Amino acid sequence: MQRGSFQWMKSINKTIILNKIRTSGPISRADIAKETSLTPPTVGSIVKELIEQGIVMESQQGESQGGRKPTMLVINREEFFVIGMDAGPKTVDCLVTNLAGERKCDFSLELEEELSNEAFLSVLIKGVEQMLATVNKPKEKIIGIGVAMHGVVDVQNGIGKYAPNLHLTDIPIKEVLEDHFDLTVKVENDARAMALGESWFGGWDDTKSMLAVNIGRGIGGGIVLDGTLLHGEHDIAGEIGHMTLDLYGRPCECGSNGCFQTLASGPSIEQKVQAALQNGEESLILDLVEGKIEDITGEIIYEAAVNGDAFAIRTWTEVGMYIGVACTNLIHTVNPSRIVLGGGVANAKPFLKDSIQKTIQNRGLTKEAKQTEVEFSRLGKAASSLGAIALLLVELFQPEMMN
Ligand SMILES: [Zn+2]
Repeated sequence: MQRGSFQWMKSINKTIILNKIRTSGPISRADIAKETSLTPPTVGSIVKELIEQGIVMESQQGESQGGRKPTMLVINREEFFVIGMDAGPKTVDCLVTNLAGERKCDFSLELEEELSNEAFLSVLIKGVEQMLATVNKPKEKIIGIGVAMHGVVDVQNGIGKYAPNLHLTDIPIKEVLEDHFDLTVKVENDARAMALGESWFGGWDDTKSMLAVNIGRGIGGGIVLDGTLLHGEHDIAGEIGHMTLDLYGRPCECGSNGCFQTLASGPSIEQKVQAALQNGEESLILDLVEGKIEDITGEIIYEAAVNGDAFAIRTWTEVGMYIGVACTNLIHTVNPSRIVLGGGVANAKPFLKDSIQKTIQNRGLTKEAKQTEVEFSRLGKAASSLGAIALLLVELFQPEMMN
C-alpha cells in the first residue's frame, strides 16, 4: 500500500518525465518530449502538474534553437525530504536528506544489548519522531521512510525475519511504522541497501551493474543490475559472506565451514591474529596492546601495519587474497562492471588493494574478468542509510522499478 505524498507519483509517464529531469536537467519541455517519445502536450500537462506539486521548478533560460529561448526545468531538490535508517546491530543511524541525497539531519541512537521486538520498534519510532522534529517539514513533504535492516528481511512485507546479532525474529517494521506515521515505508537488508546507496550516491558514473560487498563484523553484499537490486527467489541473493572458500575451514555462525566470513570478517581476523601471537609469533601488535592479546582489534592490526610490522602486513595481504578469491567467484557469476568494497575491514585499503587486484589478475578467466575494477566505498558508514533513502528514490524516479 502506498501512502501520503507518495501516491501521486504512481503514474508511469510522470515517473519517466521526472527521471528525465533528474538525470538530464536543466532540460526543456521540448527536449523531454524528444528524448522520452512522449507527445509535447502530454509532457506539457504533466510538467505543469509536477510544478504545481513543487517537485519540479523552472530555472534559467536555455539556448535558443531559433525562436524564443526555452524555459529549462530542474528538480526542486529542497521541496521534499526522505528519511533513511540503518538499523542494527549496535545502533540505529538516522539520516534525512533532500531529493539529491544532501544531508539535512544526521544522528545515531544506541540499541540495548537485550531487547524485544517492541523495544526495537520503539527505538525506530523515536528516531523518526526526532528526525521529523529536527527538519521541521510538513509530513506531506516527506516522501517516505527507508529502513536498511540488519539480518534477513522479507522485502515484500517489510519484516525483519531474522536479526542474528539482535536475537530477534519476525519484526513487523513496515506495518508498525506505516501505522504510526502514515508514510510509505520500505525495508531492505542493510548490505543490499548499501549496494543501492553506492550505485545512487557513490559518484560512480555509468555503472550498469555493480556489486557492493560490506566487510565488517559480518560480510554481506548486494547486486545492482541496471539500477535494480537483485533479490533472487527468496531474498537470499547477496549473502556473499556464506560463500564457502575453504571446505575444511573454521566453523561459521551459519552452521557451515570455511565461509568467506570466517576468513575476512573483522572478528575472524582478530581471532586469527590472537591465535598466532599466542603461539609465539613476534609482532609490534603485542606492544600496542601491552601484551593483552584479548584487546587486539582490527584498528590495532592496521596501526601495526602502518608502522611497518611484517606480521601485520602479511595478515592484511592474506585477507586481501581471500577477498580477491571471493571477488573472482563473483566476477565469474555476475560479471559486474564494478565491485565496491565497504565496511570496517575495507578501511585497511592500503594493505588490501594490491593483494586483491593481484589475486583477481591471477584467477580471472578472461582479460576482461582480470581487469574488473575493484574500488573502495566513498560513502563510508553512511552508505547503508543513504541506500535506505535510495529505496524511496528508486520508486520515485525509476519507472522500470514500479510495481
Ligand atoms: Zn557461514
